[in-house]
Amino acid sequence: FELERLGVHESVEAVFPPAELVTYLTDLPAEVAVVDDDGIDDCDGVVTLAYREAFLELDWIHSIQAGYDRFPLDVLEDHDVILTNSAGIHDRTIGETVASYLLMFARRLHDHVANQQERRWDRPEWDEAFTLPGATACVVGTGTLGSGVAETLGALGVRVTGVRRSGDPVPGFDEVYATDRLLEAIGDVEFVIVTVPLTDETHHLFDAEAFDAMRDDAYFVNVARGSVVDEPALIDALESGELAGAALDVFEEEPLPEESPLWGMDEVIISPHCAAYTRDYFRDVGEIVRENADRLADGEEFYNRVV
Ligand code: NDP
Repeated sequence: FELERLGVHESVEAVFPPAELVTYLTDLPAEVAVVDDDGIDDCDGVVTLAYREAFLELDWIHSIQAGYDRFPLDVLEDHDVILTNSAGIHDRTIGETVASYLLMFARRLHDHVANQQERRWDRPEWDEAFTLPGATACVVGTGTLGSGVAETLGALGVRVTGVRRSGDPVPGFDEVYATDRLLEAIGDVEFVIVTVPLTDETHHLFDAEAFDAMRDDAYFVNVARGSVVDEPALIDALESGELAGAALDVFEEEPLPEESPLWGMDEVIISPHCAAYTRDYFRDVGEIVRENADRLADGEEFYNRVV
């Protein structure tokens, strides 16, 4: 197909102003414009956060996220729609967010922030604060996110191991386990960090058995997708002291419902699915879109193609 008109769907607004990406892509040999649901018909391709059935009439969808669990892959294939994603850009953002969570727990900053809201001068117990060098972390998923986490934590002196399906070694990880050894891999570390895509295999990969296998002084971090975790089982583990705490960016239901007990837990840090946010996000996405527009013009295979 030929790319004559590329829409930037208004749903990207949740992450960056759509007009910023349009301006960034003005040099494309195609017309680029912000579109709402009614403007999709006129486009050949769309850059989007959300999925719409109207996209089935297009030739190309580019997701501004790395995860593509919200897209019906079989249906797209049946309709000959190409889907590309934004994998490969979230290493540093997610790495720094995860390092921040770990530093908050280690240096007790979440307590200080909570106390500050109450104008309360309250120091930690003598044995609550610790430092990261020598601590151990197991990162489940060793792709872009996992590698970014390993690199950032490695620089802080954390010993990082990983889990992936094959168990093959990955730079930055001291040791890598295959997924069938998950319980062993997470059994003796102080931090378990989840960075796998949500698939049929990873749905509720972290269940009561997994939390039971973890040390009771361990912290659990999820920056992947909510449904990789059996959330009620996590809440049980936190309430019964089977885990020391958790830092969560993603949830089974988003926004996290107001009545969720997670909101009220002292040793739980909640961020609203924004661990990868950066003011450069539209540029990072723009580079992938430009690369694919060039490849399309040159008759080459798309970069980051999912379908
Ligand atoms: P990648 O494709 O680069 O990496 C995914 C990794 O997961 C690979 O190392 C893969 O290794 C591993 N993996 C896949 N299936 C399994 C499994 N069953 N068991 C263990 N490991 C598995 O993706 P990204 O790192 O870019 O992103 C990962 C996910 O993180 C995204 O799909 C998205 O859902 C989420 N995400 C969340 C963000 C946020 O804002 N919080 C931002 C960006 C992404 P192998 O093939 O060897 O198994």
